[in-house]
Amino acid sequence: MNFDRVKAALKKRGYAVSSFEAAKDAADYLDQQINGMSVSFGGSLTLSEMNLPKLLALHNTLCLPSQMYDDVLGEVDPVKAMSTDVFLTSVNALAETGEMISIDGIGNRVASMMYGHKKVYLVIGRNKIAENFEKAVWRARNIAAPQNAKRLHMKTPCAVTGRCHDCSSPERICRGVSVLLGKMFRMEMEVVLINEDLGL
Ligand code: SF4
Repeated sequence: MNFDRVKAALKKRGYAVSSFEAAKDAADYLDQQINGMSVSFGGSLTLSEMNLPKLLALHNTLCLPSQMYDDVLGEVDPVKAMSTDVFLTSVNALAETGEMISIDGIGNRVASMMYGHKKVYLVIGRNKIAENFEKAVWRARNIAAPQNAKRLHMKTPCAVTGRCHDCSSPERICRGVSVLLGKMFRMEMEVVLINEDLGL
């Protein structure tokens, strides 16, 4: 995939941008960049598939919003996790025009990508990229959210049909939607693009 258009759009919106052909190279890069820091994560299959939590736990102090991983990688403290030096997450969709869409049920992930940390890394595989803002919103609501509901065994209609019904299920996972329109003031933000399919 050619990242030229999306890279230009992201840079125009104020983000630092790096791109990699392989997830392994991106993981090595982040492992070098993040050293001796306090680090937290948003729930992200992308980061798990890259083995980043385990890599970073070897030489950083992890503070997690919940027990997200089978292994004990760090302290679990939802409040402290909101103010670590570094926060890593993915998004549910990235428009080629630069907007990033994320859907959250608890809120810690969308809150942390916008406030509270010195630096935020948004790690995004090529499958998350949509042609424009409208298609990115559609992807987040009709691909990412239903697949996540299914993965988490939620009793929601989308887990059965594979598309959003804007449900009123008690287990609805879509409770907050964030749109990043540009780099937030007062913190560094870097988008890490990877030319592989990662996450949902
Ligand atoms: S609103 Fe309900 S049906 Fe739609 S994606 Fe979210 S959980 Fe699924």
